[in-house]
Amino acid sequence: MNPFTLIRPKTFEQASQALTDRTYALPMLKAGGMDLLDHMKEGLLAPDALVDVRRLTHNSDAPGIRRMVSDGEGRIEVDAMVTLAELASNDLIKREAPMLAAAAASAATPQVRNVATLAGNLLQRPRCWYYRKEQFDCLKKGGDRCYAVEGENKHHAIFGRGPCYIVHPSNIAPPLSLLDARVHVIGSDRDTLKITDLFHSPGEGVRDEHTLKQGEVVTHISLRPEQTSGFYAIKEKQSFDWPLVFACVALRLSQGRIDSARVCAGAVAPVPWPLPNVEQSLIGVHIDDDDDLHNACASAADGAIPLAQNEYKVRLLPIAVRRAVRIAAGRPAL
Ligand SMILES: Cc1cc2nc3c(=O)[nH]c(=O)nc-3n(C[C@H](O)[C@H](O)[C@H](O)COP(=O)(O)OP(=O)(O)OC[C@H]3O[C@@H](n4cnc5c(N)ncnc54)[C@H](O)[C@@H]3O)c2cc1C
Repeated sequence: MNPFTLIRPKTFEQASQALTDRTYALPMLKAGGMDLLDHMKEGLLAPDALVDVRRLTHNSDAPGIRRMVSDGEGRIEVDAMVTLAELASNDLIKREAPMLAAAAASAATPQVRNVATLAGNLLQRPRCWYYRKEQFDCLKKGGDRCYAVEGENKHHAIFGRGPCYIVHPSNIAPPLSLLDARVHVIGSDRDTLKITDLFHSPGEGVRDEHTLKQGEVVTHISLRPEQTSGFYAIKEKQSFDWPLVFACVALRLSQGRIDSARVCAGAVAPVPWPLPNVEQSLIGVHIDDDDDLHNACASAADGAIPLAQNEYKVRLLPIAVRRAVRIAAGRPAL
C-alpha cells in the first residue's frame, strides 16, 4: 500500500476543502474505509491523502437518524456516516421504512455492518472480479473491453446492455430509490440531488458509477417513509454473502388489494433497476391470491438479456419480487 497523509477535518466543509487542496495529487474521502482500503491494498487506487469523515455529523444537536422538523411529509434524515448496523436496528427506520432496515440487515456480515457507512455503501465501487483485479485492463480502467462478456459472468448484469456488465453493489440504493431519497451534499453549487440522479449507467460514463462532482461531500440523506414496504434477497448462502438478486417493494393496500406498487430490483443491472411492468401488473391483485400474485410478478425479468452464465437470474427475479411483495403486506415470504 502507498504512503498517504491522514487528514481529520472537524466539519464536512473542511473535508470538502481538503479534497480540493492542491497540496495533494489524489486526496480521497474515507468513511468506514472498507471499500477504499480494499482498493488501496489491491493496487487499484493510490491516494496521497485520506480525508477521514467517519466521525462527522451533519447535525450535532441530533446526530444519527432523526425525524425532520418543519416538514409536512414526515421525512426522515439519516447522517451520511450512520453505519449499516445502526440503520438495521434503528426503531424509526424499522417502523417507517422496513425495507431499508431489512436491506441493511441483509448486507455483508456483522463485522462489516458495524463499520460500513450509508454514504460509503452508496459510493462503493462494483464487485466485478475483472475490475477488482489489477491485471485486467477492463473498460473501467481505461481498457478496450469488458472481460465479463466472454468470461466468467455468473454475477453480472442481465439488464442495461453494457458496454460494461457490472451490477450495482449497494443493498441500500434500491430501497432508497423507492423512498424518494434525496442526497444532501456540500462543496459545489448544489445542495441536494435525487438518489436516482446519483448514479449513471455505463453508457453515460464507464470509468465511474456516480455523478458527484470534484469536492462534493455527502452530508446526509433524507427519505419519505413507506411503512408498507418489504425487501427480499436471494443468495447462495443466506449469511456472509452478496445477493444474487434482490427486490424492494412499497405498496398501497386497501383491504388486502393492491392499489399501487413501486418495485425496484438489485444485483441485476449497473444501477438500481425499477420494474414498471410489475408495478402495473400488481394493481388490483389481492395479496392472498397467490396465483394472481405469481402471474403479476412473472414479468419481472421482461427485457432481460442474460449472459452465458447468468440466465438463472431471469428465473430468480420474479421469485424475489413476489416474496418482497408478500413481506411488504405483512405476510410470510413464501
Ligand atoms: C465480505 C463483504 C461482504 C459485503 N457484502 C455486501 C452486501 O451484501 N451488500 C452491500 O451493499 N455491500 C456489501 N459489502 C460492501 C460494504 O457494504 C461496503 O464496502 C461499505 O458499505 C463501504 O462503506 P465505507 O463506509 O467503508 O466506505 P469507504 O470505503 O470509506 O468509502 C467508499 C467510497 O465512498 C466515498 N465516500 C465515503 N463517504 C463519502 C461521503 N460522505 N461523501 C462522498 N463520498 C464518500 C469514498 O471516497 C470511497 O470512494 C460487503 C463488503 C465485504 C467486505
